[in-house]
Amino acid sequence: MGAYRAYRMMKDPDVRVKATDTDGSVYELFLKGSKDRIDEVSFISDADDAVLTAVDTFIDSLKGKTVREGAALVKEQWGTLNDTVFSLADELITRYRVMIDGAHEARITNDDVNTGEKKEDRRTILVLSGKGGVGKSTVSINIAVTLAKKGYKVGLVDVDIHGPSIPVMLNIPKVDVLKGESGIIPLVLPDLYGMKVMSLGFMLEKSDDPVIWRGPLKNQMIEQFLNDVDWGDIDYLIVDNPPGTGDEPLSTAQQLAGKGEAVLVTTPQAVSTSDVSRSINFAKNLNLSIVGLIENMSGFVCPHCHATTHIFRSGGGERLASTYSIPLLGSIPIDPNIGVAGDIGIPYVHRFDASPVSDIYSDICDKITQK
Ligand code: ADP
Repeated sequence: MGAYRAYRMMKDPDVRVKATDTDGSVYELFLKGSKDRIDEVSFISDADDAVLTAVDTFIDSLKGKTVREGAALVKEQWGTLNDTVFSLADELITRYRVMIDGAHEARITNDDVNTGEKKEDRRTILVLSGKGGVGKSTVSINIAVTLAKKGYKVGLVDVDIHGPSIPVMLNIPKVDVLKGESGIIPLVLPDLYGMKVMSLGFMLEKSDDPVIWRGPLKNQMIEQFLNDVDWGDIDYLIVDNPPGTGDEPLSTAQQLAGKGEAVLVTTPQAVSTSDVSRSINFAKNLNLSIVGLIENMSGFVCPHCHATTHIFRSGGGERLASTYSIPLLGSIPIDPNIGVAGDIGIPYVHRFDASPVSDIYSDICDKITQK
């Protein structure tokens, strides 16, 4: 099945119908109305753009018609649909799925279309690091999954234009983003405790086009993107930012207007540099409340004897945390399985559920939720 391209999804349609055109294109039609009148109608399809525009015009013409008239119109227009299609609606598809050829089933159903209402006490946590390669994306994903595992409703989003991490680390290849009545609908990952994900990477046609992504336009794009995603009633939104103090974290923080929080990620060797303190100042300047610091790649756990070797000087995270009076949320050792999990697209804390590192993530998340 090709990827669905959005026209518009509908929440709680009275009728939804799936049909295949002679060329194999799939359409799904949503209708709202009484028996006698079609009040609202919309559709999604994987057909070509040219066809979609024509279908869109046609679909629009169904509005206000009776169901019978609508069915007649549909029949006339699409030979493969027949009169009984509306009455068969219930037997036809009751929900549709976007099947992803990857590690996860990522789905969107009509149940995932929200009303646009936002949970009042939702917490948005930006994961920040002074420089790349310290494991910020890995930490973002594993925190999100651990929170979801603990029963919280969680959303995970990345705003890295140049190297979006979620599609890669969760092995979700290019998907077409669907828009519902109240915004972009995030993907739901049933095998990861129903966690919702959205990536700026899903939105970009060409992520390597430097012209589009300069300065103000980029900021605007990020702000709008974050604002447009319809997360529903999630408790936590984890935002994976690119490293440093550039446009993306800036736009994210601005969009949150002082209501965001920050978790800082560093490594023992980065501690001695000014990168982390820059992130701390950055967070303070933008009124992000700092939840704490995570020291990643802190020591190496031998896969054979399980002893921890401190390859770098130990205790750096602790010192830094106390210098800046911020909590140290935890120290995560280097574990080769973390790299493996990232490569195959299954989050470590899910794949290696009962492991010392998963316990550390659990402690970190307890500290986050108790804050
Ligand atoms: P960043 O987002 O800071 O650029 P990533 O999360 O992409 O960093 O991590 C960089 C690499 O390090 C990835 O290959 C990841 O799997 C690996 N990695 C991260 N944390 C650990 C860890 N604690 N142990 C082993 N490998 C890790």
